[in-house]
Amino acid sequence: MVCISLFRGVTRIEEINHKKMPVLFVGHGSPMNLILKNQFTQSLSELGKKLPGPRAILVISAHWLTQGTYVACTQKPKTIHDFFGFPDELFEMEYPCQGSPEDARFLIRSVQKTQVKCNDDWGLDHASWAILKHMYPGADIPVFEMSLDYTFNEWHPKPIQYHYNIASELSILREKGVLIIGSGNIVHNLGIIDFRTIESPTYDWAEQFDNMVKINLLNKDHGALIDYQKMSGAALAVPILDHYLPMIYVLALQEENDPLKFTYEGFQYGSISMRSFQIG
Ligand code: ZN
Repeated sequence: MVCISLFRGVTRIEEINHKKMPVLFVGHGSPMNLILKNQFTQSLSELGKKLPGPRAILVISAHWLTQGTYVACTQKPKTIHDFFGFPDELFEMEYPCQGSPEDARFLIRSVQKTQVKCNDDWGLDHASWAILKHMYPGADIPVFEMSLDYTFNEWHPKPIQYHYNIASELSILREKGVLIIGSGNIVHNLGIIDFRTIESPTYDWAEQFDNMVKINLLNKDHGALIDYQKMSGAALAVPILDHYLPMIYVLALQEENDPLKFTYEGFQYGSISMRSFQIG
């Protein structure tokens, strides 16, 4: 019986023909946004109401870094409280959604450029549930995460083009009713963050870099965004790649006729860009 039901499940995903879903990049920022009511969290609530209803959600997370690429095959993902020093209220919150192992396995079959592996114990880190809590507060849509391959070779991470190429193969999921969300931050420097207030003035270099990214996004200049180190302020804006890479996955899914619109623009704590956008 198990084999029959699994076979039926596999067949079902392959046979789904869904109107093509948009793709999102969300700048998730601090976990404090979980309990704040501000323009950013309001933009997430509005997105959840406006977007076509997804059958499942795939989050490519800045907070799941692995050797090789993994996708979570868990049926019931646990809420991971992967932060420290925040109010108790945040640690008491849960996001009790289902996973989608069938979609995860479909993703594995769809990607040819690398071997994506099933992971059975990862849940949802705050790059996922801290934004989904605002977008889909009912937690009634299945969610599964994909990791970022953070393998270093002689101190060098995998080239950005490598990630872009893998991401382009996720396109088929859009036609299966999956809302793909890259969750990171375009500018993310915690080393010189101004923790005094979430509304701290933005550093000039941060604003310049964020603005160059905006221009390149509007010009569909993916090459310039892959080659981000040539942009002014890059060393400070992207000191490490983890929060920048989810945006690369979203870019790779932009097709010729896909429009791009910003769903939120702004900074928190002076050095975290909350810029978020929708493709398609
Ligand atoms: Zn983060």
